[in-house]
Amino acid sequence: MNSTICPRCGNQTHKLFEGRCKSCFLENFVLAEIAQVLHAKICSGCEARYVKSKWVNYGGLEDVVVHTAEDALFIHAMAEDIEIYIEPRARTPYLYRVHIVVDALVLDEMFHQELETEVRILRESCDMCSRISGGYFEAIIQVRATNRIPGDDEKQECMAIINDVLERMLNKGDRLAFISNSLDIREGTDLYLGSSNAARHICKEINSRMGGSFSESATLQGRKDGKDMYRITFSLRLPEFMPGDIIDHRGRIIEIRRFSKNVTGNDLETGARFTASSDDLTGAVLVAKRKDLPRTTLVAIENNDILVLDPETYETVTLKKPPMFNASEGSDIAVVRTEKGLIAVADMTR
Ligand SMILES: [Zn+2]
Ligand SMILES: [Zn+2]
Repeated sequence: MNSTICPRCGNQTHKLFEGRCKSCFLENFVLAEIAQVLHAKICSGCEARYVKSKWVNYGGLEDVVVHTAEDALFIHAMAEDIEIYIEPRARTPYLYRVHIVVDALVLDEMFHQELETEVRILRESCDMCSRISGGYFEAIIQVRATNRIPGDDEKQECMAIINDVLERMLNKGDRLAFISNSLDIREGTDLYLGSSNAARHICKEINSRMGGSFSESATLQGRKDGKDMYRITFSLRLPEFMPGDIIDHRGRIIEIRRFSKNVTGNDLETGARFTASSDDLTGAVLVAKRKDLPRTTLVAIENNDILVLDPETYETVTLKKPPMFNASEGSDIAVVRTEKGLIAVADMTR
């Protein structure tokens, strides 16, 4: 191997690094550098950081400070196995001192360096927060139910799904995934959303978890930068029936168990499993809700029949023993009054 002379110390060496032998090179080596003062622009509403002409959510203020320091930190290209430790310390809500420790391997030698910088915080309102406060919206979701008014429980379930979807979309970078207004009206709820894409995701998610359907219609709002601007109305319909509803479907008495794309349930008289598409339920009538069923005394069990007291007349009537029935004489059981007369309903086993 050719050897050469280090121009600085005069020693023989096989390889020069930036024109010096290894030990002369490492003597003056600077592993990491950072400016004395850094600036971070953050939103006073949501703590998003303005970086490379975009607002980005990282989490909290300390995360913004750490990212700001990390982005400004220069580390020598020859460093390998780099470990960086950044500790922000708040001096005031507008000023952070940041301590940085860098460990790395350079030419198989361990290097350790500590740096200090400060991050000055500038607060502004981001694009999203200024749009929320200005009531901006691209889409309206009208939450309704078919042939009835949505209940409070359902509205709460919808809101939980909506907040889930919005959080997911916000994390994916859709900064218009927010609700700028919501109105409770007699028939349901109207929600004003910043992003029509997020509104569409919400409707799909509610339909797949709670059943029902949605349709959308666009209205032209005008033109902006040569593009037509539309506002989209999503008309979301929750299904007519809910789990626990007992319905008369073409003469069969069915308890609904699950309502999503398909409806499943049980025939209360035969115990047979019931499956249908929600369109098939057109014309079905709500008979009762399981939670509202009256209870009455089971007087006796005789083979496949049971004797109960009619909860209205207090007369003893003979009913067919329901499938999956394990109540004992003298106990209370639920009954449902239908066009065919009283039907005994077994308590849910699970
Ligand atoms: Zn040298
Ligand atoms: Zn904001």
